[in-house]
Amino acid sequence: MIADPFVQVRLLDLQAVDTSLNQLAHRRRSLPELALIEAADARAAEVRLKLVDAETELADLAAEQRRLEADVDTVRQRAERDQSRMTAVGVPAKEVTGLQHEVTSLARRQGILEDELLEVMERRELAETATQELTAQAGLIAEERARAESARDEVFAELDDAELKLRAERTDLAANVTPDLLALYEKVGQANGGVGAAMLRQRRCEGCRLELAGSELSSVRAAKPDQVLRCENCRRILVRTHESGL
Ligand SMILES: [Zn+2]
Repeated sequence: MIADPFVQVRLLDLQAVDTSLNQLAHRRRSLPELALIEAADARAAEVRLKLVDAETELADLAAEQRRLEADVDTVRQRAERDQSRMTAVGVPAKEVTGLQHEVTSLARRQGILEDELLEVMERRELAETATQELTAQAGLIAEERARAESARDEVFAELDDAELKLRAERTDLAANVTPDLLALYEKVGQANGGVGAAMLRQRRCEGCRLELAGSELSSVRAAKPDQVLRCENCRRILVRTHESGL
């Protein structure tokens, strides 16, 4: 391929802009806030699961408490009925004895139910505390995430600005490079980590840092200025300048 040496040198300017664009893209991808957001999401999901468990337990305990309270009521009402029957006029002595037995066993039953009720209420209190703590945790995580998000957006806005300027610069530079050379530069760049053109400085390819020697050096020395050269090692476009040491 043939290209005006002046145009070949423009490739180095283009490369500098593309390298900056790649650095911007890398910075965008590796922003610490992105990891923070991801970690916050993972923690939030964990807390959500625990919260679902705690809320389920809370609902179960509330239902259990209602059931026990209803049972206590039933037992108490039955005992009251028995008491009033016992004190009623004309109740046979035999029935009174039976009622006394029942009242005693109802009192025992009520005691057991009230102990169970107390235990359920204590467990419910613990579950309520756990739910509150998890809710508070979820709130803190959401705040952390929001802070990281706004920090990320701030940096993204800066990067957007910088990228816009570089893109405009790139358009201007690319307009000065012939289409076939530009296409070659882009193709080589894609295959070589975004670096398609490298300066030959002091006989060294700045793309792969290898020093030219032997027949390669001879052919580079012999090449006409408008010939587009490629590094034999990394295949990048090798751009000669007055610093090439040829
Ligand atoms: Zn090279």
